[in-house]
Amino acid sequence: MSNIIDGNAYATNLRQTMAGEVAELQQKAGKAPGLTVILVGEDPASQVYVRKKGEQAKEVGFISTEHRLPETTSQEELLALVDQLNNDSEIHGILCQLPLPSHIDEKTVLNAIDPDKDVDGFHPVNVGRLSIGEESLLPCTPHGSVHLIKHALGDNLSGKNAVVIGRSNIVGKPMAALLLAESCTVTIVHSRTQNIEEICRQADIVVAAVGRPEMVNADWIKEGACVIDVGINRIQRDGKNKLVGDVDFASASEKAAHITPVPGGVGPMTIAMLLLNTLTAFKRLENLN
Ligand code: NDP
Repeated sequence: MSNIIDGNAYATNLRQTMAGEVAELQQKAGKAPGLTVILVGEDPASQVYVRKKGEQAKEVGFISTEHRLPETTSQEELLALVDQLNNDSEIHGILCQLPLPSHIDEKTVLNAIDPDKDVDGFHPVNVGRLSIGEESLLPCTPHGSVHLIKHALGDNLSGKNAVVIGRSNIVGKPMAALLLAESCTVTIVHSRTQNIEEICRQADIVVAAVGRPEMVNADWIKEGACVIDVGINRIQRDGKNKLVGDVDFASASEKAAHITPVPGGVGPMTIAMLLLNTLTAFKRLENLN
């Protein structure tokens, strides 16, 4: 039976450590880290995410603010707000909650955020910095996944065979870049890959970021591997709504040495990494390093 990696416990611990550091740094800087979230429109899921982010930001001692704008907000109005926040010295992290209404070009808005305040880590400047190995604000979900892998396997991942399933800009590609930076031998597989199961069976570390319920089962997993399940899929089973990952937990956990559950694995790490990015941005912008 595998070790189940408890993302909730790890994230809670991390928030406690951050709260201590924030209290100390606040004395030096004379201010607390400021995180602001922009929400345009009434998307119910986005409202839940924004509320959770705000609550956890306050828990670690940040000044957390929200800008809730109506669905009818124009792109120009949104860009003007981003510009104002870029120039606000009390704000160290800016997050624009996606999706944006269809009349607004997401790329234009995300690219307008100051890369040094881009706590989602999606700005092309931060993507470029990650790819050439410069310090950057890292995308939250893959960064959180690396924390969990190190929690399970130790800090030295050098030489490990890692397979990332999925090649999206927000998870798969940055995940591969982060594992490469840890000196893993990295393979990315995707919907066009042949012999995908065979490739995964070679892996010491498997990261599944596909969006297909329970696609990865025990046959894909090498005995003793570390399996990180990024997927969040809502399915109906036995007449009930259920949240499952991209990994068939029941079978894969028979073979894996370490495995993340869904929910309670990677999910809680995403907000924790958002807070960590805000703290990093605060230290850099206030010269506290
Ligand atoms: P995308 O849909 O953007 O990317 C999915 C990737 O999986 C694509 O690269 C696609 O390949 C690949 N893929 C699809 N079908 C197959 C298949 N049958 N075999 C192999 N590869 C396949 O998804 P995201 O990266 O945004 O998200 C992935 C999952 O992670 C989702 O379930 C999402 O909900 C979850 N997620 C969870 C987060 C968290 O906080 N825990 C945060 C973000 C995402 P191709 O490129 O060839 O089409």
